[in-house]
Amino acid sequence: MRPSYSLPDHRAQARGRWHGPWEARGDDLSRAIIRMSTEANERDTYMRYISTRGGTPPMGFADAVLTGLAPDGGLLLPERLPDLSGRLRALAELSYVDLAETLIAEFADDIPRADLHRIVQEAYASFDHPEVTPLVRLSREHVLELFHGPTLAFKDVALQFLGRVFEYLLAARGEQLNILGATSGDTGSAAIAGVRGRDRIRIFIMYPHERTSRLQELQMISVLDANVHNLAVRGSFDDCQAIMKEIFNDLPFKQRYQLGAVNSVNWARVLAQVVYYFYAGLRVGGPTTFSVPTGNFGDLFAGYLAARMGLPVARLVLATNENDILSVFFNTGAYRRGSVHQTISPSMDIQVASNFERFLFYRFDGDAARVRGFLDEFQRTGEARIDDGRPIDDLIVATTVGTDETLQTIARVQNEEGYLLDPHTAVGVAAARRLGMPAPVVCLATAHPAKFPEAIGRVLDPALARHPRLTALESLPTRRTVIDASIDEVKRFLSAAVDAE
Ligand SMILES: *Cc1c(COP(=O)(O)O)cnc(C)c1O
Repeated sequence: MRPSYSLPDHRAQARGRWHGPWEARGDDLSRAIIRMSTEANERDTYMRYISTRGGTPPMGFADAVLTGLAPDGGLLLPERLPDLSGRLRALAELSYVDLAETLIAEFADDIPRADLHRIVQEAYASFDHPEVTPLVRLSREHVLELFHGPTLAFKDVALQFLGRVFEYLLAARGEQLNILGATSGDTGSAAIAGVRGRDRIRIFIMYPHERTSRLQELQMISVLDANVHNLAVRGSFDDCQAIMKEIFNDLPFKQRYQLGAVNSVNWARVLAQVVYYFYAGLRVGGPTTFSVPTGNFGDLFAGYLAARMGLPVARLVLATNENDILSVFFNTGAYRRGSVHQTISPSMDIQVASNFERFLFYRFDGDAARVRGFLDEFQRTGEARIDDGRPIDDLIVATTVGTDETLQTIARVQNEEGYLLDPHTAVGVAAARRLGMPAPVVCLATAHPAKFPEAIGRVLDPALARHPRLTALESLPTRRTVIDASIDEVKRFLSAAVDAE
């Protein structure tokens, strides 16, 4: 990720002598942020972020977001969580955007409230539903539609916010960011949509040439903003990832070109996802079970945080596809590396869940040494386990849903209730039904079904899976660069694009 910043001693900050990362930046915006932070310190409510591995001095929200991964290799978590249990009735009155602003402000107290207001308003104005994440009532459960953003997937909820926060913080510091990413096809478009047209940010997304679906490619290459660069790499997704890793390992290059990533461990992403748990839970009322189709564990972890912040949560159903490392863990305590299976819910095809470390930190009561020990063992042997006689977690129940059950669920819900589920959402619905979770149950709908016509066509008429925005893609102009699977070629492209401006 980005270079780490030298961090001030917090007690010095509290005395108002803060010479933090914004020091000596001339512009008014950064002065405003410094002033806010100092006031916050004096109130002693300044939210600080600590690393799950215990080797990074605490930092504020702005640093946590721009740094992404903690310099010691850990993930960042707020030092404390606000208890909102006494404010639920007031929170239930708020619209989605007002709720988002209120909850995010608890954690982002180094951004002036008026600025945060504008960022949140703009981020969710890009959604095509007035409620942003509407709840739909089915016969047995509610479906929380998280797919009303620009790319019709739930990652928009976090990335529309993150792109704007990045732009704001980079402006305050007079910095730039060049994002380099690799996608197998499904999630690149949400990252692109989050930063297109943003000042001070460029994005370079590599994907395997001719190995994504046409729809996936069109969602990326129909974005023509000057700061967006789509690279169709003549190779596999693994080649793309290997190139990315090599380039990030070239520290002089990384520094010179201010390279960063928008990976799923960024705190701002998790934070933006906490909002819809509150939104849905407060509308359904009473202790609610959420069923969450899970890959990297970011989404489920946001629900776990919501519960710890006082939202009444009965259970969190962790639903995986055949990539079952997490469901095995929550059922047995053993965290065991497997190989990646390709499924009809590709955004959940993971081997190791990047946000899992945050759960470990809480499970080990904040004992960073235990987190490190667990991860070291996993790294060394491919397996680590929790075996301390306590249940793994009181809230999380986990199960695996295979392809047949997923397809049957899509067909049954469409035929019986006239509601079309995408394959990811169907994994969550199938899990909640099979486990017989008591009402109220909210199933998180993470993608619009029109993104997955092939899977739906296996059990239903694929013409059911349509969305006007996806149909319109066919006639839009496109721009991409086909490039060899070569580290040097990609570096040359990147430096030419950056130096040209
Ligand atoms: C990313 C994604 C998921 C998995 O979410 P995690 O936070 O990685 O667990 C599920 N469904 C869809 C459609 C996604 O894009």
